[in-house]
Formats: sequence, structure tokens, C-alpha cells
Amino acid sequence: MELTVLGGAGEHGRSSYLLTHEQQHLLLDYGVKKEGGGVYPLMDHMEEWIGGLQAVFLSHAHEDHCIALPVLYRHGYKGDVWTTRATVNQLPVYFEAWKRYTDKCAAPRPYDDQDEQRIRYRYLEDVIPAGRWGTLLPGLDVCWGRSGHLPGSIWIALSWKGKRIFFSGDYTSESQLLDADRPLHQARRLSGTPSVQGILPDLDLAIMDAAYGADPELQLNKLAQLKAHMDAALSQGGSVLLPVPLYGRGQELMLWASEQYPDIPVLVESVLLKGIELFADYSGWLHQDALARMERALHYPNLHRIGSDESPARLYKHYGQAIVLVTDGMMQSSIARQHYDWLAEEERNTVILTGHLAAGSFGRRMLEQYRMNQSGCAVHYVRYKVHQGLPDVRQMLSDLNDPPTVLVHAPKPRTDSLALRLQQEGFRHIHSLTPSAKLNI
Ligand SMILES: [Zn+2]
Ligand SMILES: [Zn+2]
Repeated sequence: MELTVLGGAGEHGRSSYLLTHEQQHLLLDYGVKKEGGGVYPLMDHMEEWIGGLQAVFLSHAHEDHCIALPVLYRHGYKGDVWTTRATVNQLPVYFEAWKRYTDKCAAPRPYDDQDEQRIRYRYLEDVIPAGRWGTLLPGLDVCWGRSGHLPGSIWIALSWKGKRIFFSGDYTSESQLLDADRPLHQARRLSGTPSVQGILPDLDLAIMDAAYGADPELQLNKLAQLKAHMDAALSQGGSVLLPVPLYGRGQELMLWASEQYPDIPVLVESVLLKGIELFADYSGWLHQDALARMERALHYPNLHRIGSDESPARLYKHYGQAIVLVTDGMMQSSIARQHYDWLAEEERNTVILTGHLAAGSFGRRMLEQYRMNQSGCAVHYVRYKVHQGLPDVRQMLSDLNDPPTVLVHAPKPRTDSLALRLQQEGFRHIHSLTPSAKLNI
């Protein structure tokens, strides 16, 4: 069997992994990279495999995992895309956002609306419960579990043509809201652990989220840094701006901030509060206490909903100082810029960026500017983790009994330094690859 990387290893984006045995193929994800009008998975020799494609698996709804799926149908694929119901419910938002982005860049798309309509989604949970092995197609057994990254996000294990392959999808065990099912090798099974954990045999290959490279810190460390920056601003009477994406990190940080700072007004853009309702709809993907925590936060007297076009001048005059959460994470939205323009004048204010900043984004430029000039309000970067770094990858490798592993979801130099570090620690079969690379399994 052979793995071909069509995208996603040695880079951030266009996750896409093709498994080949003789003339038959399975595909894991088919996403895009949001750069220069859109970068799609490698398609040069597509006609060689599309006819023998047996099944496609989709790990979650983010654009870097799903947006290229219609291209498969444009080129003749007639089979299914196996994923979860929660993922399919979220996909229209991401497909629409991708259209707006490519239109804005005047970039062509290699598919049209009809191709998008042709996608045949099937729900894994209807056939196989989480954490159990079951037969999906003749000769193809599957086990899956929640990956803690987004409602509906999953890891997938396959048993096919005598090989066992694990794909982590985007994985984190450190979300405050989302629960993850920890994948475990059968030899590592702990007594008394819940039965929904996936119990896996010896693996021939693991494709593993390592987006943060050799970053050694846990979420706890990140939150301590975040708190230190916020304390510094708030103690001087300043305000804190937290630009966040529409779903996920925004709701987690809103919850955290309102619990940490009960005496400070927390102003939240209304679309982010709507995001809480989305989480409430997906209670099966959450930690047991998550709904109660969210319910408490919504009734918290210092939490205020703000409109996307409300004047920052009026808000800051009214509240004096505040913690403000607005979309989007890279500060590409007008609300984020308006708040920034208002806060930028005074040194006691702080903007804290917490996620991926694409090259050329407003957030990235602002951070670079501040690092050069150190003038105006402070701009800091503290990553809020939704992927794996060194301690998480190390844990997952041990849990899976040190399988042959391809580290993915990060630029090549970052992946190389993590691979080197893990090899030094004694993990024996670590690969750092790039698109078009092939690996014998
Ligand atoms: Zn993701
Ligand atoms: Zn991703």
C-alpha cells in the first residue's frame, strides 16, 4: 500500500491524503489553502485514481479539509463522503465563505454549484457508534471518535487490505467545551476507562495533527500568559480587544474571560453569542459541564451583546473599560478594525491575537508593526490551542504504541524540528513530508 500526500503535510492547509492499493484508493479529506485566491490539493494525475476511488472520509467542516470535495464529483467520482451529521450541517457556511473569498480575489474555482450539490454525504454515526469497530464497505472496517476540535470533528481509523491506518484529523484534548475520545492502542488500555474510547490494534501508519510543531506548552500555560497580558492592561484602566473566529475559539474565550473577570464588562459581538446556540445544538460533542457553563455565562450580568455596527466611541464611553470579543481572528472585518482604531491611540489598551494569522492579513501586519515600533496600544500574540504541539503529539504517539507516523498541518521547517525532537526522544518512525511525497506502508 502507498500513501500519496496531495496536500497538508509540510504546510498549513489543503489537507488531503490518498491511500492506494493496486488500482483501488481511499481519500482522507480534500481541503484548500486560503492564500492567493485559493490553493487546491494536487490534481495533476487525478484521472489515474478517481475511477478507483472507493470512499472518501471528511474529518471536519473547516475549509482546509473540505472545500475541494466538489472537484471530485466534477471529475467523475460517484461515491460517498463519509463524515458526521454535525459536520454536514456546518458545511454550507464554509462553502459560502469560500465563494465570497475567491470572488473577492477574482480567483476562478475548479468546481461549480452543481458539483457542490452532487456531493453524497453519509453519516458514520448511523452505521458505527463512536469508539467501536464496524464494517463500512466489504473489506473496509472503520473506527472513529470525537477529536475535540469542532462540533462534528473526528479522528478515523481504517482497516483495509490488511493494513491499519489512523488519521487524527485536527485534534485537541484541551478544549474547554468540546470533548475528545482518546484513541488508544489495545496494549495501553487503562482499566476502568469509558468504553467509548477507540481501542486500536498495531497501526501501519498514523497521519497526525502536529500544527504547533515543537511548541512545548499546554493550554494552561497559554491561558496564564493571556491572563498576564489582560491583567496588565486592565490594571491600568485599559481595555482588551480579543479578535476571534466565528465558531470555536471565540466561544471558549468568551466563557473563560467572563469567568476570570466577573467585575469587568465583557462585550461580545452578537454573532459570537449566536455561536453559543450552535454549540448548544451539538451537546453530544461537548464536555458534560459545558452546557451549564454556557448557560451561566449567558446570564452573567456583566456580559453585554454588541451589534456589528455599534460605534466603539459610544461603547467605551459608556463602559469605561471592557474586554471586547469581535470577529474575526485575523482582524479582516470592519468591526475589528473600528475597535482597533479606537483603542490604538492609548498605550494602556491591548489587542491579543490568539490564532492562525495568514500572510498579509491585517492582524499579522498589525502585530509585526507593533513588534517593530512598540508604539500605541500593545499588540500581543498568545496562541489558544485547537491543535497539537509537542506534549500532545508525544502523548498520542505513546497512546498508539509508536506507529510509523506522518506529522502534518505545519510548514516544513516547523515539522522538521518536531520530527527531530521526537526522534531524539526515541520515537522511531517519524516522517516529515511535503505535497506529492509518497510513502510505502
Ligand atoms: Zn480545523
Ligand atoms: Zn485544519
